[in-house]
Amino acid sequence: MSIFQDFQNLFNASPNLVSAAPGRVNLIGEHVDYNQGLVLPFAIDSVTYCALRLRDDEKILLSSKQVESKIYETSLSNLAPKTGPDWTRYILGVIWSLGIKRGVEILIDSEVPQGAGLSSSAALECSVAFALNEALSLGLTRIELAQLTQRAENEFVGVPCGIMDQTISLLGKIGHALLLDCRDLTSKLITVDFEENGLRLLIIDTQAHHALVDGGYAKRRAQCEEVVGFFGLISLRDLSASELEKKKMLLDSTLYSRALHVVTEIDRVNAAVSALKRNDFKLLGELLNQSHDSLRFQYQVSCPELDCAVEISQKSGALGARMIGGGFGGSAIALVKDGDVGMVASAVERSFAEAGFKSPRFFDAIPSEGARLIDRRY
Ligand code: ADP
Ligand code: MG
Repeated sequence: MSIFQDFQNLFNASPNLVSAAPGRVNLIGEHVDYNQGLVLPFAIDSVTYCALRLRDDEKILLSSKQVESKIYETSLSNLAPKTGPDWTRYILGVIWSLGIKRGVEILIDSEVPQGAGLSSSAALECSVAFALNEALSLGLTRIELAQLTQRAENEFVGVPCGIMDQTISLLGKIGHALLLDCRDLTSKLITVDFEENGLRLLIIDTQAHHALVDGGYAKRRAQCEEVVGFFGLISLRDLSASELEKKKMLLDSTLYSRALHVVTEIDRVNAAVSALKRNDFKLLGELLNQSHDSLRFQYQVSCPELDCAVEISQKSGALGARMIGGGFGGSAIALVKDGDVGMVASAVERSFAEAGFKSPRFFDAIPSEGARLIDRRY
């Protein structure tokens, strides 16, 4: 059944419109967005849908097909950061950060797996922000929507995420990755055509979620801040590899490793863009491998499941592979020749079974369009 019909059944009225916003994969540039670095994400073809109807009062009625309970009800006057059931905060946070003054009814449905490192949270926030911007003709640009949805997640949900996920969910273009400068939010579209080159980018969802996730992420951010303070910089973006080496002996060894990851990862993003421009997928694969090693040994945000997915992919013919997202679980990506996908996937599946890990899930990462309107009725 379509979300349009589901909405009618639930709220006894038609939605004004339905929007869709995608999840994302970050090709390379991990844990650098909050260091004002460069990232290279693309929107995937799995989206979150938001069906929305404006009300004439202050009531907010929310429902998600991915959540058991039927309708969550609150009102505009009750909106306060970090209140409400967890899943509602992503939506209420957007209503709050956009300064909405009218009640709404919202039904969510999603193809983006939650907690798999594909950013279902940004897909949810951006689908809601895009729908509100359209329904109320707010005239906000996509970049402004990215900033406001990030603010919703930072302040209302309470997750200190960077700006990458929301930006790519809003600015994604079919057949392209986005080279995003997280310092000034300027971006360039970079053509990525795996299919034409006989390749696929396989997403391996390890289904692992280690308890470290929240604390580990906040700790890495704090460590980066410490290095910034040590060097007297604005962000790690301004640190060069040579400066870092010069002061290595004066810096705590853990802090050195964290900074080394960030500095080298930003260089790898530039190298990956050059590789893509030359269709040099062998080099792109090597850069993915280097990125994984750096995340594993310098930044220390990997876990046995991610390492297994990456190593087995590499051993069974992938041009390159790496963990993506915050780490300590979630997904890895593997750049694989079209004909090798089955072999790589079954090798990973076998190794997971042997190691006693949960069964992994596989998705195709296809560079797709960003947030958009699906249907509009007044
Ligand atoms: P990720 O963004 O990597 O998928 P997060 O932990 O950042 O993982 O976000 C997942 C959370 O976002 C879920 O636990 C839930 O609260 C919320 N969420 C995402 N998609 C939906 C959905 N379709 N319906 C309800 N809540 C959702
Ligand atoms: Mg998220």
